[in-house]
Amino acid sequence: MQCRICSNSENNKTHEAREMMLGMRDIHTYFECGNCGCLQIAEVPDNIQDYYPGDDYYSYDEIKPETGLKKAMITARDRYAATGHGFIGKLLQMRKPHDKLPRLQKANVTMQSKILDIGCGAGHLLHSLKECGFENILGADPFNAKKIEYDNGLIIEQKSIHEITEGDWDFIMMNHSFEHVMDQHEVIAKIEELLKPGGVCMIRVPTVSSWAWDHYGVDWVQLDAPRHLFLHSQKSMQSLADQSGLELKETVYDSFAFQYWGSEQYLKDIPLNDERSYAVNPEKSIFSEHKISEYAIRSKALNAEQQGDQAAFYFHKPTSA
Ligand SMILES: [Zn+2]
Repeated sequence: MQCRICSNSENNKTHEAREMMLGMRDIHTYFECGNCGCLQIAEVPDNIQDYYPGDDYYSYDEIKPETGLKKAMITARDRYAATGHGFIGKLLQMRKPHDKLPRLQKANVTMQSKILDIGCGAGHLLHSLKECGFENILGADPFNAKKIEYDNGLIIEQKSIHEITEGDWDFIMMNHSFEHVMDQHEVIAKIEELLKPGGVCMIRVPTVSSWAWDHYGVDWVQLDAPRHLFLHSQKSMQSLADQSGLELKETVYDSFAFQYWGSEQYLKDIPLNDERSYAVNPEKSIFSEHKISEYAIRSKALNAEQQGDQAAFYFHKPTSA
């Protein structure tokens, strides 16, 4: 097999992984590149759609905008969380944080930034941004049933990145969608084309440059065969950057307790959607709340050591070619 990221075909290692989210337990072959370390599926199943849950996967009717004082407080908090500006927002973020927006601060996002979210599903994160006053934002997801138009004006197009024609974006993000696409180089090239010079792209993915992959191997919960087509390493993400003209400037690990309890369940042959799963019935699971808390603490430590099982990779488009 030839690595689809760096083209190396020597010393590649084969792994057999089971489908364990739905509990189908059928086996899928992956190979690990001997050069860049990227773990990738050998062959995408013809019936890959069968491995995705049904219609109610994205629940966009669940988003209920707040009103009055609560809206004012959430607005202040989320503006701070995304941009790092605003004293009241800072206090509110310390008390009851928005856990996803702070990742935008690394990209120097401002209230005026033009932001594109690719593979955003229902667009919960963008909805938060729109509610707190960001105007120039757009979402796109080819797997949504239809185009979504929220009451606050937010639009989520039913499109792939290749169908986006408008350029000059300050910030493009892909939150756990990049590992599902086969045309890795084409997507990165399109991101490079869509970003304005000086713009930033954040790609959040699971990574094999982690304790969880080293420790659990094919029982690592975020391998997620066969839905995850690529499990990147730090080196393979660098290779993508080098080949696209983007600069990989920073990697921030953001793993959580899931890497432990999900993988421990797979070791014991308990699927993610099983009745005994912590994801389905926490009280019937094999874990105490104390154990889950311990996993959360250990995950923070792994992140600090750049060993967590997922990370945000920040790619910058140079200001001059
Ligand atoms: Zn490779």
